[in-house]
Amino acid sequence: MPDNIQLLPDHIANQIAAGEVIQRPASAVKELLENAVDAGATEIRLIVNDAGKALIQVIDNGKGMNETDARLCFERHATSKIRQIEDLFHINTMGFRGEALASVAAVSQVELRTRRHSDELGTYIEIENSAVVRQEPCAAAPGTSISMKNLFFNVPARRNFLKSNAAEMRHVIDEFIRVAMAFPQLFFSLTHNGQQVFHLDRGSLKQRLVQLLGSHYNSRLVSVQEQTDYLNIQGFVGKPESAKKTRGDQYFFVNNRFIRSAYLNHAVMQAYQDLIPGDSFPAYVLFIDLNPEQIDVNVHPTKQEIKFEDEKIVYAFVQAAVKHALAQFSITPTLEFDI
Ligand code: ADP
Ligand code: MG
Repeated sequence: MPDNIQLLPDHIANQIAAGEVIQRPASAVKELLENAVDAGATEIRLIVNDAGKALIQVIDNGKGMNETDARLCFERHATSKIRQIEDLFHINTMGFRGEALASVAAVSQVELRTRRHSDELGTYIEIENSAVVRQEPCAAAPGTSISMKNLFFNVPARRNFLKSNAAEMRHVIDEFIRVAMAFPQLFFSLTHNGQQVFHLDRGSLKQRLVQLLGSHYNSRLVSVQEQTDYLNIQGFVGKPESAKKTRGDQYFFVNNRFIRSAYLNHAVMQAYQDLIPGDSFPAYVLFIDLNPEQIDVNVHPTKQEIKFEDEKIVYAFVQAAVKHALAQFSITPTLEFDI
């Protein structure tokens, strides 16, 4: 009787694992933008064609990679960001799993051009099916340019799951907005099929929000800013009268990472309780910063969910901070005395 179990070849294992990190063009966009941020770039350009199905390219002026790293970065579990398990609780980078580029290399045709500022020549690498098909020294601007072409060209079933270009582009823009929102001190641009969608000069958070969400926000934002020893919260909430009937622009960031949290959303809703009709939704963009030891980011491959060591404190704090910011809008009962 032959044995039944076989070890999968690396490139198939990589393709399977890639499914966790990259479901659609937007997930690749997120990973590549975050890598550029982690590389210390001050200018980050995103270029996509056919909503990212044909091309996703990110060009940054960050620290670049040397020849060895340029090759190693496509290996699974290859990361410069953590060294040991304890580091998971001191994360101050967007990435740390060392899985994104391995996934990218498993499901698209990749071209990398990268140069460290101190090097004269850069490195050019081409990858297909997780294997390097070409590598050579090249002239390159300092920083990194990475292109992924024909996403899922080798996983047709997954390619068939992609939605229309309009729908996929909406997701791409959502991811772009989340990263660009968290780093208003960096320049970002987005070009789709040769047309500029965003060109975001560096500026204040408020300027960035207006650029990203629309100029009507100029007069609709109320600043939120509170600090304790445990955590810091800053950002903006919408004036009560601008609340909408549809859940619109609601963003939480924890240590600059966009997260989804029904729990914290509830905290904000509580703060608006008497100010807006029960069936409407306020806008908010809130940045919570706390010691990385107080959170676990390694809950989900996309890192959009995190665990707080003490969720209740964060809830209470968010609610209080938003309430405080909105105090000017509450109708305080006044007592009148007839003398
Ligand atoms: P992670 O970001 O979790 O470390 P990735 O697969 O996204 O894993 O990237 C692997 C490594 O490649 C990173 O740790 C980093 O050292 C390097 N790298 C990736 N993108 C860039 C970039 N744009 N500039 C410089 N280095 C990069
Ligand atoms: Mg990464």
